[in-house]
Amino acid sequence: MFHQVFACLDVQGFYVNNDFYPREFAIVNECKSGAQNIDTRLNIKDMCYEDQLTCRFLTNNFHGLTLRPKDPTDCLNIYEAMQCILKYQQETATEKKPYYGIKNDMLKRILHEFGIPHLCLESIGCPSHKILEQSFNQKLECDWHKNKNLNGCKQYICALRKCNNLWKWIEENSWI
Ligand SMILES: [Zn+2]
Repeated sequence: MFHQVFACLDVQGFYVNNDFYPREFAIVNECKSGAQNIDTRLNIKDMCYEDQLTCRFLTNNFHGLTLRPKDPTDCLNIYEAMQCILKYQQETATEKKPYYGIKNDMLKRILHEFGIPHLCLESIGCPSHKILEQSFNQKLECDWHKNKNLNGCKQYICALRKCNNLWKWIEENSWI
C-alpha cells in the first residue's frame, strides 16, 4: 500500500458548528514541498461561545493561525484549494500511485466530498503525529510558521511539518 501513495497531504484549521474549516494545507513528495493558506471566511462574532473558545484555543495554543489570513491576496477559498489539490493529483498521480496519503479524519471527509483519491495512512499502520515528530525531528515549516516560531516561546504546529513527517514515513517503509 505504501507504493500506491504519490504524495502526502495534510491540513489544519478550525471547528465551527461541527464543521471543519481548513486554514492551511500542505503537499509533500520527492518533487514538491509546499503549504498554502486558505481563507476560512469565518467571523468570530457569528459563532456560539463554545466555538469561539475552541477557535481561540487553536490560535493561541496549537497552530497559531488566525481565523483569516492578514494578507487575503495570497489565499484560496476552500473550493479553489480543493481544485488545486485535485489538479496536482491529476497531473502527478499514476495508475500505480493514485493516492494522497493522509492522516486526518476531517480531511478524509472533505476529500471524499470532492472525489479526490486518498489512502488513510493509519489503516496501514502509520503511528501518531507525535511519534512521527519524535522519530524524524524535521525542521521543515512554511514561511509563515517559520517566522512565527523563530522568536516565540511557543512552537506552533505547521501543516507542512506534519505532512513532511508523513512523507518521511512513506519513504522509510516503501522499500518493504
Ligand atoms: Zn505552516
